[in-house]
Amino acid sequence: MRASLRRADCLIEVHDALTVLNNAHIPLSGRNPILQEVLGIRPHILVLNKMDLADPSRQPTVLERLKQQRCSHVVFTDCKHDVNVKKIVPLVAKLVDNSPRYHRAESTEYSILVIGVPNVGKSSLINSLRRLHLKKGKATPVGGDPGVTKAVLTRIQVCEKPLMYLVDTPGVLAPKLGDVETGMKLAVCGEVATVAWGTPQMWL
Ligand code: GDP
Repeated sequence: MRASLRRADCLIEVHDALTVLNNAHIPLSGRNPILQEVLGIRPHILVLNKMDLADPSRQPTVLERLKQQRCSHVVFTDCKHDVNVKKIVPLVAKLVDNSPRYHRAESTEYSILVIGVPNVGKSSLINSLRRLHLKKGKATPVGGDPGVTKAVLTRIQVCEKPLMYLVDTPGVLAPKLGDVETGMKLAVCGEVATVAWGTPQMWL
């Protein structure tokens, strides 16, 4: 993942909107420490997916809290119905164009790393982007069962103009469960495989 981060121009971090809106007073659950290291180095977009399941009236409070957690670029999405997904490509292009491109100054393509715990809708986001920008069908399998093995995909084209690729990380970014409460919250949202409940080291 560190290697992927080095190659990426921008990070898209996907979370479950319902979890975030219901827990506006605490930091984002399930964030991997590696991510904290690179925040501020690469442009970063927080996608709060499954907005169709969350109460929209809580959005302003949450946006304010997220700003305090260094998340200024937040997009609420419903990837099942392609709601707000069109905002992502222009936002990525704007953020990358306005930041120094350390590794490939002459490159005209954008490489995006998509991260998030299982079941938040990363595959659905990629498929939605491809539907909207390429009029293409599924590139990544979608499942409601976290921990189900998925093929590790490398680069997936999501847009032609500008040329944009996404990197999915199925199964790579296991949530760092710092405490029981965080684990419970993720589990309630189906973001932790059932087997994790019986694995004591997950709780350390
Ligand atoms: P991933 O493990 O992060 O790649 O998650 P998936 O894309 O496989 O999605 C997990 C489950 O959430 C699937 O059942 C999807 O149909 C569902 N899902 C994805 N996006 C949305 C959304 O915006 N709204 C709702 N209601 N369900 C979604």
